Amino acid sequence: PVSGLPQPFYKSSRFPSPLSPHFSLSNQLISLSATMKVLAILYDGGKAAEEEPRLLGTVENELGIREFVESHGHEYIVTSDKEGPDSAFHKHIVDAEVLITTPFHPGYLTADLIKQAKNLKICITAGVGSDHVDLDTAVTHKIQVLEVSGSNVVSVAEHVVMSILLLVRNFVPAHEMIERGDWQVSQVARAAFDLEGKVVGTIGAGRIGYRVLQRLLPFDCKELLYYDYAALPAEASKAVRARRVEDLKEFVSQCDVVTVNCPLHDGTRGLVNTELLKHFKKGAWLVNTARGAICDKDAVAAAVSSGQLAGYAGDVWNVQPAPRDHVWRTMKNPLGGGNGMVPHYSGTTLDAQARYANGVKSILENYLKAHPQEPQNVIVGHGGYATKAYGQR
Ligand code: NAD
Repeated sequence: PVSGLPQPFYKSSRFPSPLSPHFSLSNQLISLSATMKVLAILYDGGKAAEEEPRLLGTVENELGIREFVESHGHEYIVTSDKEGPDSAFHKHIVDAEVLITTPFHPGYLTADLIKQAKNLKICITAGVGSDHVDLDTAVTHKIQVLEVSGSNVVSVAEHVVMSILLLVRNFVPAHEMIERGDWQVSQVARAAFDLEGKVVGTIGAGRIGYRVLQRLLPFDCKELLYYDYAALPAEASKAVRARRVEDLKEFVSQCDVVTVNCPLHDGTRGLVNTELLKHFKKGAWLVNTARGAICDKDAVAAAVSSGQLAGYAGDVWNVQPAPRDHVWRTMKNPLGGGNGMVPHYSGTTLDAQARYANGVKSILENYLKAHPQEPQNVIVGHGGYATKAYGQR
């Protein structure tokens, strides 16, 4: 495993290693003999990145791997310019062999782009969540997709717990009141509750979802629930006293707080929509740090403004960067609160950046040496999907 990562709670059988080999003779020849192009799509760090070298996931600090890539005789192109046919991403993808993208500023590798990318062999996600790659097309084009599994799962789990608390306790309007110079306790207390005694459920109980449950235990919630097509091992669910609910509508109808912690794939796109929101308890809170497109943008905004949801918080958006007029930036519940949205940063704390930068380097190192990859990092391997987390098939 990548050094410094927490050991996964689960045994490897839950995240089975693919039986297929992770390298081929043709890969060895290509990687070891020719100069290749490594293309990285990262976000602009600006002044902050110049002042803070630990902002490794930025265009300025280049994941800290330029010297490593160039010392092996390869070309390293780093850009944030990723949208449209004239972008640096679209221009360089046609002859890149390695693509590195970060979910925080995703280079959307569509089926069309994959067809143009004649040299592409491996996509590496600097972080966790590879939905920005058309995974089915990667499978058919025998392009490997890897991510640095586990690299930021604690970072996100902490953010989830914080977001649950800030919604339930009505923190944001209370802080805004203080900044305005006002002081009217009743106005914020009328929508503030304790987390103790509430029912909290996670959609997805993998690395992040499970860590959220672990962190919620000391809050003495009434019950912790999970909804996931993969059941937790008995020992794991017992340790967090979590009950599995197999029907999604039944699950949401029992929760005061729902947190979304599953990957984005065909089975989860738009999962939380107008129809499902009708089954939520009136005034429930919803936290989504998984992927914006799992929740229908307009359905969520309507549910918050009607009060069907008391609030929505998270850091992920259906398009990133989110447009200035995105309704999730400003939506409010009928009492003027209930919005805990931030830019996509829960999984990119400085601690997480060190881990995923290291992880990218070690995936690249394995690729260059034609060594097998760590099985838990492989989303698409040579034999197709190597994970069960991106949908049931
Ligand atoms: P994981 O693979 O360990 O766990 C995912 C879990 O979701 C699995 O148990 C899987 O069975 C379950 N799942 C898949 N489809 C489901 C469905 N239709 N319904 C219910 N459960 C389903 O992944 P993880 O490390 O916990 O990360 C989960 C996701 O969180 C990532 O794919 C990514 O999209 C997101 N993420 C966000 C950030 C951030 O900064 N906001 C950072 C890391 C990861």
